[in-house]
Amino acid sequence: MIELNTFTWVAIFAISAAIINSIGIFTVYKKKRWAEKAKTYFMCFAAGVLISTPLTFAFPQAVEKNSYAGFAALIGFLFMFFSNKIIKQRTKQKNLAFGITAAEGIAIHSFVDGIIYAVTFNVSILIGFLAGIGLVIHEFAEGVITFSFLIKGGLSKKKSAIFAFFIAAITTPLGAFIAYPFVSRLNSSVLGLTLGFSVGVLIYLSASHLLPEAIEYEKEHSSWAFLAGVVLALLIVITKMI
Ligand SMILES: [Zn+2]
Repeated sequence: MIELNTFTWVAIFAISAAIINSIGIFTVYKKKRWAEKAKTYFMCFAAGVLISTPLTFAFPQAVEKNSYAGFAALIGFLFMFFSNKIIKQRTKQKNLAFGITAAEGIAIHSFVDGIIYAVTFNVSILIGFLAGIGLVIHEFAEGVITFSFLIKGGLSKKKSAIFAFFIAAITTPLGAFIAYPFVSRLNSSVLGLTLGFSVGVLIYLSASHLLPEAIEYEKEHSSWAFLAGVVLALLIVITKMI
């Protein structure tokens, strides 16, 4: 792999996340049906990467750094559960309040996504890279979803696209760049806890956010997309282990 410093890696992935998110917004703006269809595959593939990487690679490393990392993982999972509950609750309402509150939930979520890049790359380039692949791919779906939320909230197409960009796309690099100076100063043991937290977030994202959505709008071959994500992550992890 090319020798880049940690910050450059974080920047590359966090900015790619914002770009892929924007592409999601743009695609659903222009070609709604195509975007909705593609979204499912992106979600399944990302879910495959994001369940395999924490379980086989990131979590053992977190525990090695700090034996309490499992508690941090649980906190990460619960944090995501409650912040996503805000989004889910508001999905049932059909007014602007729904759009705004859902947007808040998504903004928090995207901000945390950004923090994950800072944490994982500071542990190792490989963990950052693996989590980063899954995260960047799920951004496409996130752009599509945010746009659709705002449309449901009663905003015009143009406003929805612009707001979605600020809520979902920009917040990820923002989270990464704000977290980076703090995360890069952490000692190994504290970094183990933040990695544990990140593992909880990623497992939540995969198992409780991406997969159920993908199953609800199941498409032909979507299980294959999920398995492809698992296999890709395992291939990278295993080649690095041996
Ligand atoms: Zn996300």
